[in-house]
Amino acid sequence: MPACPSCGGTIARTDSTCSYCGSDNPAYRPVSADIDAMMAGAMGALQTGNYTAAGKLYRQIIQDDPEIYCAYFYLGHCLSQLRQYEEAIAVMQQAITLRPGSSALYYNVGVLSQSAGRSREARASLEQALKLADTDPVFATPADREEFRQRVRGALRSA
Ligand SMILES: [Zn+2]
Repeated sequence: MPACPSCGGTIARTDSTCSYCGSDNPAYRPVSADIDAMMAGAMGALQTGNYTAAGKLYRQIIQDDPEIYCAYFYLGHCLSQLRQYEEAIAVMQQAITLRPGSSALYYNVGVLSQSAGRSREARASLEQALKLADTDPVFATPADREEFRQRVRGALRSA
């Protein structure tokens, strides 16, 4: 995966900006039309609650193009809905390799670890989410950032 020219963090080729610092990705390339069509099909299955079918499609997308962040994110969501927490955690961890600066991903891994009964891992992930929230460029306003922090702190209290 290419490195960010500003901070040196890794960026997936299909992400237009760095998950650590928000800089533009010079190696950005859009996903193919075929993958786009598959993503639409998978989203349709997801929205009707057909998590098994959607999960199958997302796995196929990942096989065809392993640098599409959304495919891991939604596959993790499908597995979570199917209560396959260990698998969902593994998929979210793959998503973290594509967006290592994403506080939301660590939050998701924390919540999934709680569901899987792994409280030590849950705490570690939630603490990392809180740390990354200081720099994560995804938040549009300081209020959004604070709202996220409150959500993480709430999860930490029950972890
Ligand atoms: Zn960067």
